[in-house]
Amino acid sequence: MPELPEVEALSAFLSERLTGRVIARVQPVAISALKTYDPPVTALEGRTVGGVSRRGKFLDIEVEGLHLVVHLARAGWLRWKDRLPAEPPRPGPRNPLALRVRLAGEAGDGFELTEAGTKKGLAVYVVRDPAEVPGVAGLGPDPLDPGFGLADFAGLLRGERRRLKGVLRDQRVLAGVGNAYSDEVLRAARMSPYKLAGSLTEDEVARLYEALGGTLREAVERSRGLAAGELKAEKKLGLRVHGRTGLPCPVCGDTIREVSFADSSLQYCPTCQTGGKPLADRRLSRLLK
Ligand SMILES: [Zn+2]
Repeated sequence: MPELPEVEALSAFLSERLTGRVIARVQPVAISALKTYDPPVTALEGRTVGGVSRRGKFLDIEVEGLHLVVHLARAGWLRWKDRLPAEPPRPGPRNPLALRVRLAGEAGDGFELTEAGTKKGLAVYVVRDPAEVPGVAGLGPDPLDPGFGLADFAGLLRGERRRLKGVLRDQRVLAGVGNAYSDEVLRAARMSPYKLAGSLTEDEVARLYEALGGTLREAVERSRGLAAGELKAEKKLGLRVHGRTGLPCPVCGDTIREVSFADSSLQYCPTCQTGGKPLADRRLSRLLK
């Protein structure tokens, strides 16, 4: 799933290519991806793109008072085409294409939103105000907002009864951090994903705040200037613990471990984060009984 750094890079990539261009056609292919009907997608046609920005993990393409808001979810992606095929896209169970946006002009360029797999989560909204999108309206502060300081972060954690892993990836608490970067931030902060968020000392809050900003800024820096097609590979290269179960931790050499849940898993380094002790994996122990 693309998270803050990838969506930030996609937003910059699109901003460069779309700003000032006129949208010629918007063709929804997977109807389930389109979450709004008023205004209709055709309302975007003939209008000029004013800019592209990121809101948490959402992309916001501003088109003369309207907004095309996109959430790529787990398996959604965006591909840029210098020349889109002339024939209209055909919907079908094997076609990953969800939406095509063609720009006005001779070149026939534009972009496509695709979604692989069966769990359909890709969501597209056409709204007059981004706040009409439920996921956008409820977003917490953006960790890369220059105004988001240590005191603000401490305020978010105060009285929080959940574990760090769950809090960091809760979009209503912090915008943009998901399963992968929460693993990375916790490794960088040398903290257990199971640690209770409200139990952190002042020093620990500061360490986590540094790890949060540092990890995200580093990832944004690496992704900057990359084309949409190169971002997925870059994300994978930059991760130190997430998705690396069984591999050595690049920091200390210990073996990365995993805890699995019904529909996701987390990875961590025991030496860096839990005093060398493996975390209980309730699902695994239930299976072993
Ligand atoms: Zn380690």
